Amino acid sequence: MVDIDYYEILEVNRNATLEEIKKAYRKLALKYHPDRNPGDKEAEERFKLINEAYQILSDKEKRAMYDRYGKSGLEGSSGFEQRSYEDIMDFFESVFGESFGFSSRRRDEKYPLDLTIDLEISFNEALFGTQKEITYHYKAPCQACQGTGAKDGKLSTCPECHGRGQIYFRQAFMTFSQTCPKCNGRGEVALEKCPECKGKGFKLEEETITINIPEGIESQTRLRVQAKGNLSPSGLRGDLYINIHVKEDEHFVRYNDDIYMEVPIFFTKALLGESIKIPTPRGERELKLKVGTKDGEKFLFKGEGFRNLHTGRRGDLIVQVKLIFPTKLTAQQRELIEKLQESFGMETQKEEKKISSLFEKVKNWLKKEKKGG
Ligand SMILES: [Zn+2]
Ligand SMILES: [Zn+2]
Repeated sequence: MVDIDYYEILEVNRNATLEEIKKAYRKLALKYHPDRNPGDKEAEERFKLINEAYQILSDKEKRAMYDRYGKSGLEGSSGFEQRSYEDIMDFFESVFGESFGFSSRRRDEKYPLDLTIDLEISFNEALFGTQKEITYHYKAPCQACQGTGAKDGKLSTCPECHGRGQIYFRQAFMTFSQTCPKCNGRGEVALEKCPECKGKGFKLEEETITINIPEGIESQTRLRVQAKGNLSPSGLRGDLYINIHVKEDEHFVRYNDDIYMEVPIFFTKALLGESIKIPTPRGERELKLKVGTKDGEKFLFKGEGFRNLHTGRRGDLIVQVKLIFPTKLTAQQRELIEKLQESFGMETQKEEKKISSLFEKVKNWLKKEKKGG
Protein backbone atom coordinates (compact mmCIF):
# COMPACT_ATOMS: atom_id res chain seq x y z
CA MET A 1 0.00 0.00 0.00
CA VAL A 2 1.21 3.47 -0.86
CA ASP A 3 1.09 5.93 1.98
CA ILE A 4 -0.84 9.03 0.94
CA ASP A 5 0.73 12.37 1.73
CA TYR A 6 -1.79 14.69 3.36
CA TYR A 7 0.32 17.75 2.62
CA GLU A 8 0.39 16.86 -1.05
CA ILE A 9 -3.35 16.31 -1.08
CA LEU A 10 -3.98 19.77 0.36
CA GLU A 11 -1.26 21.25 -1.84
CA VAL A 12 0.53 22.95 1.07
CA ASN A 13 4.11 22.66 2.34
CA ARG A 14 5.09 20.92 5.55
CA ASN A 15 5.47 24.20 7.48
CA ALA A 16 2.04 25.50 6.51
CA THR A 17 0.19 27.35 9.24
CA LEU A 18 -3.27 26.35 10.36
CA GLU A 19 -4.63 29.36 8.47
CA GLU A 20 -2.94 28.23 5.26
CA ILE A 21 -4.23 24.69 5.72
CA LYS A 22 -7.75 25.93 6.28
CA LYS A 23 -7.55 28.14 3.21
CA ALA A 24 -6.24 25.31 1.05
CA TYR A 25 -8.91 22.96 2.34
CA ARG A 26 -11.67 25.42 1.61
CA LYS A 27 -10.47 25.99 -1.94
CA LEU A 28 -10.03 22.30 -2.77
CA ALA A 29 -13.12 21.05 -0.98
CA LEU A 30 -15.29 23.49 -2.88
CA LYS A 31 -13.64 22.51 -6.15
CA TYR A 32 -14.19 18.79 -5.65
CA HIS A 33 -17.49 19.01 -3.82
CA PRO A 34 -19.77 16.22 -5.19
CA ASP A 35 -22.57 18.68 -5.86
CA ARG A 36 -20.29 20.50 -8.27
CA ASN A 37 -19.12 17.27 -9.89
CA PRO A 38 -22.21 15.09 -10.07
CA GLY A 39 -21.51 11.51 -11.04
CA ASP A 40 -17.73 12.05 -11.03
CA LYS A 41 -16.31 9.18 -8.95
CA GLU A 42 -12.79 10.58 -9.09
CA ALA A 43 -13.89 13.94 -7.71
CA GLU A 44 -15.80 12.17 -4.95
CA GLU A 45 -12.72 10.16 -3.96
CA ARG A 46 -10.64 13.31 -4.06
CA PHE A 47 -13.19 15.10 -1.89
CA LYS A 48 -13.00 12.30 0.67
CA LEU A 49 -9.20 12.46 0.75
CA ILE A 50 -9.21 16.24 1.10
CA ASN A 51 -11.52 15.94 4.08
CA GLU A 52 -9.42 13.20 5.60
CA ALA A 53 -6.26 15.26 5.16
CA TYR A 54 -7.87 18.31 6.72
CA GLN A 55 -9.13 16.37 9.71
CA ILE A 56 -5.60 15.29 10.49
CA LEU A 57 -3.63 18.42 9.62
CA SER A 58 -6.03 20.81 11.35
CA ASP A 59 -5.66 18.89 14.62
CA LYS A 60 -2.43 19.81 16.40
CA GLU A 61 -1.95 16.43 18.08
CA LYS A 62 -2.89 14.35 15.07
CA ARG A 63 -0.67 16.43 12.85
CA ALA A 64 2.29 15.90 15.17
CA MET A 65 1.67 12.14 15.19
CA TYR A 66 1.38 12.12 11.44
CA ASP A 67 4.57 14.17 10.99
CA ARG A 68 6.48 11.72 13.17
CA TYR A 69 5.10 8.33 12.25
CA GLY A 70 3.11 8.86 9.06
CA LYS A 71 -0.35 7.50 8.59
CA SER A 72 0.36 4.34 10.57
CA GLY A 73 0.91 6.52 13.64
CA LEU A 74 -2.73 7.54 13.50
CA GLU A 75 -4.25 4.13 13.20
CA GLY A 76 -6.35 3.17 16.14
CA SER A 77 -6.31 6.66 17.57
CA SER A 78 -9.18 8.08 15.59
CA GLY A 79 -12.07 6.91 13.53
CA PHE A 80 -11.46 8.97 10.45
CA GLU A 81 -11.18 6.09 8.04
CA GLN A 82 -14.01 4.63 6.00
CA ARG A 83 -16.33 7.37 7.05
CA SER A 84 -19.65 7.36 5.30
CA TYR A 85 -20.43 9.95 2.69
CA GLU A 86 -23.03 11.54 4.95
CA ASP A 87 -20.46 11.90 7.72
CA ILE A 88 -18.09 13.72 5.43
CA MET A 89 -20.82 16.04 4.23
CA ASP A 90 -21.73 16.78 7.84
CA PHE A 91 -18.12 17.47 8.66
CA PHE A 92 -17.82 19.76 5.67
CA GLU A 93 -20.90 21.65 6.73
CA SER A 94 -19.74 21.88 10.32
CA VAL A 95 -16.55 23.60 9.15
CA PHE A 96 -18.14 25.99 6.69
CA GLY A 97 -21.72 26.22 7.74
CA GLU A 98 -24.42 25.63 5.16
CA SER A 99 -24.12 28.82 3.22
CA PHE A 100 -23.00 27.28 -0.06
CA GLY A 101 -26.39 26.31 -1.33
CA PHE A 102 -25.39 22.71 -1.82
CA SER A 103 -28.21 20.24 -1.68
CA SER A 104 -26.12 17.75 0.27
CA ARG A 105 -28.09 14.96 1.81
CA ARG A 106 -28.36 15.39 5.50
CA ARG A 107 -28.81 13.05 8.39
CA ASP A 108 -32.42 13.96 8.91
CA GLU A 109 -33.34 12.81 5.43
CA LYS A 110 -34.54 9.27 5.19
CA TYR A 111 -34.74 9.19 1.41
CA PRO A 112 -32.85 10.63 -1.54
CA LEU A 113 -34.25 13.91 -2.85
CA ASP A 114 -33.87 13.17 -6.54
CA LEU A 115 -36.63 11.08 -8.03
CA THR A 116 -36.63 9.05 -11.24
CA ILE A 117 -39.68 7.92 -13.15
CA ASP A 118 -40.19 6.17 -16.50
CA LEU A 119 -42.28 7.51 -19.34
CA GLU A 120 -43.28 5.67 -22.50
CA ILE A 121 -43.99 7.67 -25.64
CA SER A 122 -44.94 6.69 -29.18
CA PHE A 123 -42.71 6.76 -32.26
CA ASN A 124 -44.67 9.72 -33.57
CA GLU A 125 -44.36 11.69 -30.34
CA ALA A 126 -40.59 11.17 -30.47
CA LEU A 127 -40.47 12.24 -34.12
CA PHE A 128 -42.48 15.42 -33.79
CA GLY A 129 -42.08 16.28 -30.11
CA THR A 130 -45.05 16.88 -27.88
CA GLN A 131 -46.33 18.22 -24.60
CA LYS A 132 -47.29 15.60 -22.08
CA GLU A 133 -49.19 15.78 -18.85
CA ILE A 134 -47.89 13.29 -16.33
CA THR A 135 -49.09 12.39 -12.87
CA TYR A 136 -46.59 10.84 -10.45
CA HIS A 137 -45.90 10.38 -6.74
CA TYR A 138 -43.11 11.97 -4.74
CA LYS A 139 -42.05 11.62 -1.12
CA ALA A 140 -42.85 14.34 1.37
CA PRO A 141 -41.97 14.31 5.08
CA CYS A 142 -44.56 12.86 7.41
CA GLN A 143 -46.04 15.78 9.34
CA ALA A 144 -46.69 13.74 12.50
CA CYS A 145 -43.01 12.90 13.03
CA GLN A 146 -41.36 15.71 11.01
CA GLY A 147 -39.86 13.10 8.76
CA THR A 148 -37.95 11.30 11.49
CA GLY A 149 -40.07 8.14 11.51
CA ALA A 150 -40.13 8.26 15.32
CA LYS A 151 -43.30 8.62 17.37
CA ASP A 152 -43.92 12.35 17.97
CA GLY A 153 -40.57 12.99 16.29
CA LYS A 154 -38.64 11.83 19.34
CA LEU A 155 -35.35 10.20 18.40
CA SER A 156 -33.13 8.48 20.91
CA THR A 157 -29.38 8.06 20.95
CA CYS A 158 -28.49 4.85 19.13
CA PRO A 159 -27.70 2.21 21.79
CA GLU A 160 -25.40 0.36 19.38
CA CYS A 161 -22.92 3.14 18.61
CA HIS A 162 -23.83 5.52 21.45
CA GLY A 163 -24.56 8.26 18.95
CA ARG A 164 -21.26 8.15 17.11
CA GLY A 165 -22.73 6.65 13.95
CA GLN A 166 -19.69 4.41 13.67
CA ILE A 167 -18.80 1.17 15.38
CA TYR A 168 -15.21 0.12 15.95
CA PHE A 169 -13.64 -3.28 16.21
CA ARG A 170 -10.09 -4.45 16.63
CA GLN A 171 -8.27 -7.11 14.75
CA ALA A 172 -4.71 -7.81 15.80
CA PHE A 173 -3.14 -4.36 16.28
CA MET A 174 -5.51 -2.59 13.87
CA THR A 175 -8.73 -0.80 14.66
CA PHE A 176 -11.42 -0.77 12.00
CA SER A 177 -14.56 1.26 11.89
CA GLN A 178 -17.75 0.91 9.96
CA THR A 179 -21.04 2.72 9.67
CA CYS A 180 -23.34 1.61 12.47
CA PRO A 181 -25.84 -0.81 10.91
CA LYS A 182 -28.54 -0.09 13.49
CA CYS A 183 -28.81 3.65 12.80
CA ASN A 184 -27.11 3.75 9.38
CA GLY A 185 -24.62 6.25 10.74
CA ARG A 186 -27.25 8.69 11.94
CA GLY A 187 -26.39 8.19 15.60
CA GLU A 188 -30.05 8.33 16.45
CA VAL A 189 -32.81 5.78 16.19
CA ALA A 190 -36.57 5.73 16.57
CA LEU A 191 -37.24 3.46 19.53
CA GLU A 192 -40.95 3.87 18.90
CA LYS A 193 -42.18 4.05 15.31
CA CYS A 194 -44.42 6.87 14.15
CA PRO A 195 -47.88 5.33 13.74
CA GLU A 196 -48.76 7.71 10.87
CA CYS A 197 -46.03 6.58 8.47
CA LYS A 198 -45.08 3.30 10.21
CA GLY A 199 -41.58 4.61 10.77
CA LYS A 200 -40.81 5.42 7.15
CA GLY A 201 -40.74 9.18 7.79
CA PHE A 202 -42.55 10.08 4.58
CA LYS A 203 -45.81 9.84 2.76
CA LEU A 204 -46.49 9.89 -0.95
CA GLU A 205 -47.96 12.99 -2.56
CA GLU A 206 -49.45 13.14 -6.02
CA GLU A 207 -48.47 15.79 -8.52
CA THR A 208 -49.39 16.50 -12.13
CA ILE A 209 -47.03 18.45 -14.37
CA THR A 210 -46.80 19.20 -18.06
CA ILE A 211 -43.48 18.52 -19.73
CA ASN A 212 -42.11 19.29 -23.16
CA ILE A 213 -40.83 16.31 -25.11
CA PRO A 214 -38.38 17.78 -27.64
CA GLU A 215 -38.60 16.82 -31.31
CA GLY A 216 -36.24 13.96 -32.14
CA ILE A 217 -35.81 12.61 -28.62
CA GLU A 218 -34.21 9.16 -28.43
CA SER A 219 -35.11 6.22 -26.24
CA GLN A 220 -33.14 6.12 -22.95
CA THR A 221 -32.85 9.91 -22.83
CA ARG A 222 -33.20 11.36 -19.33
CA LEU A 223 -35.09 14.60 -18.96
CA ARG A 224 -34.55 16.67 -15.82
CA VAL A 225 -37.27 18.77 -14.26
CA GLN A 226 -35.84 21.03 -11.59
CA ALA A 227 -37.27 20.98 -8.06
CA LYS A 228 -40.02 18.45 -8.82
CA GLY A 229 -38.49 15.52 -6.94
CA ASN A 230 -38.88 14.48 -3.30
CA LEU A 231 -39.36 17.06 -0.56
CA SER A 232 -37.04 17.05 2.45
CA PRO A 233 -38.07 17.88 6.03
CA SER A 234 -36.01 21.06 5.72
CA GLY A 235 -38.07 22.18 2.74
CA LEU A 236 -35.53 21.42 0.00
CA ARG A 237 -36.92 19.76 -3.09
CA GLY A 238 -34.86 17.46 -5.30
CA ASP A 239 -35.07 17.13 -9.06
CA LEU A 240 -37.30 14.87 -11.08
CA TYR A 241 -35.64 12.72 -13.72
CA ILE A 242 -37.77 11.23 -16.48
CA ASN A 243 -36.41 8.22 -18.36
CA ILE A 244 -37.91 8.25 -21.83
CA HIS A 245 -38.77 4.98 -23.57
CA VAL A 246 -39.90 5.19 -27.18
CA LYS A 247 -42.32 2.41 -28.11
CA GLU A 248 -41.44 0.35 -31.18
CA ASP A 249 -43.49 1.08 -34.25
CA GLU A 250 -44.96 -1.62 -36.49
CA HIS A 251 -43.87 0.02 -39.73
CA PHE A 252 -41.03 2.40 -38.99
CA VAL A 253 -37.63 1.76 -37.44
CA ARG A 254 -35.25 4.41 -36.17
CA TYR A 255 -31.51 3.97 -36.70
CA ASN A 256 -29.44 6.96 -35.55
CA ASP A 257 -31.42 9.84 -37.03
CA ASP A 258 -32.72 7.92 -40.04
CA ILE A 259 -36.07 6.20 -40.41
CA TYR A 260 -36.29 2.89 -42.24
CA MET A 261 -39.47 1.50 -43.75
CA GLU A 262 -40.18 -1.42 -46.01
CA VAL A 263 -42.72 -1.10 -48.82
CA PRO A 264 -44.19 -4.22 -50.44
CA ILE A 265 -44.36 -3.75 -54.23
CA PHE A 266 -46.01 -6.17 -56.65
CA PHE A 267 -43.36 -7.26 -59.16
CA THR A 268 -45.23 -5.95 -62.22
CA LYS A 269 -45.19 -2.42 -60.79
CA ALA A 270 -41.44 -2.64 -60.33
CA LEU A 271 -41.02 -4.03 -63.83
CA LEU A 272 -43.04 -1.20 -65.31
CA GLY A 273 -41.29 1.43 -63.19
CA GLU A 274 -44.51 2.93 -61.89
CA SER A 275 -44.88 5.74 -59.41
CA ILE A 276 -46.82 4.82 -56.31
CA LYS A 277 -48.09 6.71 -53.29
CA ILE A 278 -46.71 5.51 -49.95
CA PRO A 279 -47.64 6.48 -46.39
CA THR A 280 -44.61 7.87 -44.51
CA PRO A 281 -44.41 9.26 -40.94
CA ARG A 282 -44.55 12.78 -42.38
CA GLY A 283 -47.47 12.08 -44.73
CA GLU A 284 -48.03 10.62 -48.20
CA ARG A 285 -45.04 10.61 -50.56
CA GLU A 286 -44.55 9.55 -54.17
CA LEU A 287 -42.16 6.67 -54.67
CA LYS A 288 -40.85 6.76 -58.25
CA LEU A 289 -39.80 3.25 -59.20
CA LYS A 290 -37.71 2.77 -62.31
CA VAL A 291 -37.86 -0.03 -64.86
CA GLY A 292 -36.02 -2.94 -63.32
CA THR A 293 -36.23 -1.90 -59.66
CA LYS A 294 -34.67 -4.74 -57.70
CA ASP A 295 -35.81 -6.43 -54.53
CA GLY A 296 -34.24 -4.71 -51.50
CA GLU A 297 -33.44 -1.54 -53.42
CA LYS A 298 -33.44 1.60 -51.29
CA PHE A 299 -34.93 5.00 -52.04
CA LEU A 300 -33.90 8.07 -50.07
CA PHE A 301 -36.11 10.93 -48.90
CA LYS A 302 -33.62 13.52 -47.67
CA GLY A 303 -34.27 15.35 -44.41
CA GLU A 304 -37.40 13.37 -43.59
CA GLY A 305 -35.89 11.51 -40.63
CA PHE A 306 -35.46 12.50 -36.97
CA ARG A 307 -34.18 15.87 -35.88
CA ASN A 308 -30.90 15.45 -34.00
CA LEU A 309 -31.24 16.97 -30.52
CA HIS A 310 -27.65 18.20 -30.49
CA THR A 311 -26.98 19.35 -34.04
CA GLY A 312 -30.54 20.21 -35.08
CA ARG A 313 -29.92 18.44 -38.39
CA ARG A 314 -32.48 16.02 -39.74
CA GLY A 315 -31.78 12.46 -40.81
CA ASP A 316 -33.31 10.79 -43.86
CA LEU A 317 -36.20 8.49 -44.59
CA ILE A 318 -35.01 5.32 -46.28
CA VAL A 319 -37.60 3.27 -48.12
CA GLN A 320 -36.67 -0.29 -48.95
CA VAL A 321 -38.56 -2.12 -51.69
CA LYS A 322 -39.77 -5.64 -51.04
CA LEU A 323 -40.89 -7.28 -54.25
CA ILE A 324 -43.98 -9.44 -54.03
CA PHE A 325 -44.39 -12.32 -56.50
CA PRO A 326 -47.51 -14.41 -57.03
CA THR A 327 -47.31 -17.94 -55.61
CA LYS A 328 -50.11 -19.29 -57.84
CA LEU A 329 -50.93 -18.64 -61.49
CA THR A 330 -54.20 -19.13 -63.35
CA ALA A 331 -54.04 -20.78 -66.78
CA GLN A 332 -54.57 -17.39 -68.39
CA GLN A 333 -51.78 -15.73 -66.36
CA ARG A 334 -49.42 -18.55 -67.22
CA GLU A 335 -50.17 -18.07 -70.92
CA LEU A 336 -49.55 -14.32 -70.65
CA ILE A 337 -46.26 -14.74 -68.87
CA GLU A 338 -45.08 -17.35 -71.34
CA LYS A 339 -45.90 -14.90 -74.10
CA LEU A 340 -44.00 -12.23 -72.21
CA GLN A 341 -41.02 -14.53 -71.94
CA GLU A 342 -41.14 -15.34 -75.63
CA SER A 343 -41.26 -11.66 -76.43
CA PHE A 344 -37.87 -11.32 -74.73
CA GLY A 345 -36.63 -14.21 -76.95
CA MET A 346 -33.06 -13.08 -77.39
CA GLU A 347 -32.73 -12.02 -73.81
CA THR A 348 -33.69 -15.42 -72.43
CA GLN A 349 -31.18 -17.09 -74.81
CA LYS A 350 -28.51 -14.75 -73.61
CA GLU A 351 -29.28 -15.76 -70.05
CA GLU A 352 -29.08 -19.45 -71.01
CA LYS A 353 -25.71 -18.89 -72.68
CA LYS A 354 -24.44 -17.12 -69.61
CA ILE A 355 -25.52 -19.99 -67.41
CA SER A 356 -23.96 -22.68 -69.66
CA SER A 357 -20.69 -20.75 -69.88
CA LEU A 358 -20.70 -20.55 -66.09
CA PHE A 359 -21.02 -24.36 -65.95
CA GLU A 360 -18.07 -24.67 -68.36
CA LYS A 361 -16.00 -22.43 -66.18
CA VAL A 362 -16.69 -24.48 -63.08
CA LYS A 363 -15.92 -27.75 -64.93
CA ASN A 364 -12.57 -26.32 -66.02
CA TRP A 365 -11.74 -25.32 -62.45
CA LEU A 366 -12.42 -28.85 -61.30
CA LYS A 367 -10.18 -30.31 -64.03
CA LYS A 368 -7.35 -27.99 -63.04
CA GLU A 369 -7.79 -28.93 -59.39
CA LYS A 370 -7.43 -32.62 -60.27
CA LYS A 371 -4.31 -32.02 -62.39
CA GLY A 372 -2.76 -29.84 -59.74
CA GLY A 373 -3.52 -32.39 -57.02
ZN1 LIG B 1 -25.87 3.59 15.73
ZN1 LIG C 1 -44.38 9.73 10.64
